[in-house]
Amino acid sequence: MDYHIHSTYSVDSRMSMEEACLSAIQAGVIEIAFTDHIDIDWPDTAVPPFDVGMLDKYFEDIEKMQDKFKGQLVIKKGIEIGLQPHILDECADIVQSYPFDFVIASVHLVGGVDPYLGGFYQGKTKEETYEEYYEEILRLITSFDQFNVLGHLDYIKRYSPFPVEKNDHLLGISLIDEILKTLIDKGKGLEVNTSGYRHVSETPMPHPDIIKRYRDLGGKIITLGSDAHTPEHVAFRLETALKEIKRSGFDALTSFTGMQPEFIIIP
Ligand SMILES: [Zn+2]
Ligand SMILES: [Zn+2]
Repeated sequence: MDYHIHSTYSVDSRMSMEEACLSAIQAGVIEIAFTDHIDIDWPDTAVPPFDVGMLDKYFEDIEKMQDKFKGQLVIKKGIEIGLQPHILDECADIVQSYPFDFVIASVHLVGGVDPYLGGFYQGKTKEETYEEYYEEILRLITSFDQFNVLGHLDYIKRYSPFPVEKNDHLLGISLIDEILKTLIDKGKGLEVNTSGYRHVSETPMPHPDIIKRYRDLGGKIITLGSDAHTPEHVAFRLETALKEIKRSGFDALTSFTGMQPEFIIIP
């Protein structure tokens, strides 16, 4: 299953829904979720946001794919919703107003600043940047309920200018534990995002030690996704990550229909 795929509905993707489906089938994937971006109040005005008014069309297009690939590929209606403190009500309204199968909550901004733009890291130690990011996640998932899994937990590493070190995944570990416990208490899951293998750390997001920690703390809900924005990244390293997930003590992945989880035994 590939539960994190961006089509042309995301400004940073040029992959059509059909290309994504064909790529998934070719890779032997049996089920995907389209999870295009909704990032309300995005600070970079040069980037046109996903217009919420497009959601009806988004659903129609996914339904077309469901018809077209019936019997070959199960296709779910998902979204990756970018959380910020001042837009949580709006985010909740969107999720409740549409029949989503699956919702990833992601934190792409800290204090309104995109780590991608670099300024976020200025004048701070590596540890401070990680802690600031995890504090933001903890605050947001504590006050937001309309989601199924937390996306790419250690996204902060993706654009970090600091040299990558072996134990980076332990930076801010007490905050990570709080995040994992909060997810478990709320019945929410953790996403394993294989785009981390494309990063210099060559580990999934989050690191396998953190996946295991979520399990040891009592976590059960785990999804697997490539975060593909191009056809060649669909299903990227899913098998490697699946082995890590199994090694961490999970015997099942989670699929979602109408935001309800179903456990799929890992063969
Ligand atoms: Zn994301
Ligand atoms: Zn994504």
